Amino acid sequence: MTTQAESSSERLSVGGHRVTAPRRAILDAIARAGGPFTIEELTSRVPAVGRATVFRTVKLLQESEVLCRVILEDGSVRYQLSRGGHHHHLICSECGTVTDFSDPELDRLIHENAGSAGFQLDAHSLELYGRCASCA
Ligand SMILES: [Zn+2]
Ligand SMILES: [Zn+2]
Ligand SMILES: [Zn+2]
Repeated sequence: MTTQAESSSERLSVGGHRVTAPRRAILDAIARAGGPFTIEELTSRVPAVGRATVFRTVKLLQESEVLCRVILEDGSVRYQLSRGGHHHHLICSECGTVTDFSDPELDRLIHENAGSAGFQLDAHSLELYGRCASCA
């Protein structure tokens, strides 16, 4: 059990969710992944846990802000540990690294733009594609 998996399970317990054995196994596999992963990859890393349980748990972890969903440029979906709270992603197309960032001013502008279009904004996500500092 890594410290990363410990803190994720803590966040889950704080959210009022029981950390069952399958959930713990999934959290452990996520901590070991060390980067963005697909549900298929996660499923193959926890062979003892049923596929439906992996899907349900990933959904729960996303709602509990333990994981965030990352949409790659080709539209495919990855998951990775979230730093929690609302944020955006810088996605490197060379090495696949996903870096989080947040900017209250940017969010203010997004709300302002939606508002002036008469649009009632419920949520937004922002993925930026390019090359990270080490790949550029
Ligand atoms: Zn994120
Ligand atoms: Zn990179
Ligand atoms: Zn935002």
